[in-house]
Amino acid sequence: MALYVQKFGGTSVGSIERIKKVAERVGRFRKEGHDVVVVLSAMSGETNRLIALAKEIHEEPSPREMDMLVSTGEQVTIALLAMALEQAGIPATSYTGAQAGIITDQSYSKARIKKIDTDGIKQDLKQGRVVVVAGFQGVDEEGNITTLGRGGSDTTGVALAAALNADECQIYTDVDGVYTADPRICAKARRLEQITVEEMLELASLGSKVLQIRSVEFAGKYKVPLRVLSSFEENEGPGTLIVADDEESLSMEEPLISGIAHNTNEAKLTVLGAPDIPGVAAKILGPIGDANIEVDMIVQNVSPDGKSTDFSFTVGRGDYKKAYTLLEGVVAEMGAGKVVGDTAIAKVSLVGVGMRSHAGVASLMFKTLAAAGINIRMVSTSEIKISVVMDENFTELAVRTLHTAFGLDKAE
Ligand code: ADP
Ligand code: ASP
Ligand code: MG
Repeated sequence: MALYVQKFGGTSVGSIERIKKVAERVGRFRKEGHDVVVVLSAMSGETNRLIALAKEIHEEPSPREMDMLVSTGEQVTIALLAMALEQAGIPATSYTGAQAGIITDQSYSKARIKKIDTDGIKQDLKQGRVVVVAGFQGVDEEGNITTLGRGGSDTTGVALAAALNADECQIYTDVDGVYTADPRICAKARRLEQITVEEMLELASLGSKVLQIRSVEFAGKYKVPLRVLSSFEENEGPGTLIVADDEESLSMEEPLISGIAHNTNEAKLTVLGAPDIPGVAAKILGPIGDANIEVDMIVQNVSPDGKSTDFSFTVGRGDYKKAYTLLEGVVAEMGAGKVVGDTAIAKVSLVGVGMRSHAGVASLMFKTLAAAGINIRMVSTSEIKISVVMDENFTELAVRTLHTAFGLDKAE
């Protein structure tokens, strides 16, 4: 008999009806004789609701209190599921992150799991109980509640699966696997039977929110068999298996592109007319880094006179205002340049390990976008991805036309 860690996301526990369905599914696995540890998210929309409440009180609430607040959503669902399981005659116990022994560092809102003490969970499992753990949260060494970043319940699931040496970590969500593009905007997207850790990491970091990037990192590092499945279908089907990167798992005919990701959560900042001399990039990005703002793409142009340059970069939209203010300070100090910003941008990326051995991906991408009348504003590449920044209005058109151009559409 197997040990499964089953994580259910927000929409999968979004109502009492859905929670009862989760109890039924877990009951089915128990009847087959498997041990089950369940990890839950808050009801869909709940974490956003809590964040909005805090903002009504304070523009920049204390990180500690913020984590205290947003961690409560998961406490509701775990208790309700434990009740639903008991109601169905299945012994179950719910645990907060702290009770489940999930110890993190102290980086509120983006804490990293340091260790998990699984003794309590193991004892419960031995007694035939289902263990229901609150996702997204842990506790630091001093007993403060911490959270793992948006979408962090995925990471709780995979980390628990690693610590318990589970046979599989199953991520149940509102789609039946990982697709070649977000199926909500690309109707022709196809479900992938499997995808490598490396590609999934890239897709996740480029905006495919189906798995939190940390959860994929954990799965790669600790070799956790990880599968994405639908909680909305009676029979869950095979879903998508995230497989290790070793060569054997790759088929001989690796497709050029495995998937397309899009991200509409970034903003672009440009310093126009910065002096074109050594040290300027450091001057511009120094204060941004000091403020812990993550910079994604960077582009520097040389202007014809060789004296001044335009310097652009992207940051998360949440950091835009802060970054803008910091840049105004930099420009004032340099005594040159002007800050302009744009929040209505999107980044669309092609991902595929097959790109390594094939040329021509960029040119086909640019040709396709040009034919669709989409202007490219920034580009960045790596061995297995190409990202372009464009106006946000073009996101869906870009994803769909690229999906067709690269032969990813499902058969009619
Ligand atoms: P949960 O609440 O279960 O954690 P999320 O909303 O975080 O669910 O993630 C599932 C969503 O991810 C899907 O509804 C889908 O719109 C989106 N998504 C983005 N890219 C992809 C992709 N390549 N494959 C599948 N889903 C994707
Ligand atoms: N409830 C948290 C969020 O909305 C964590 C999660 O759902 O994974 O980000
Ligand atoms: Mg999620």
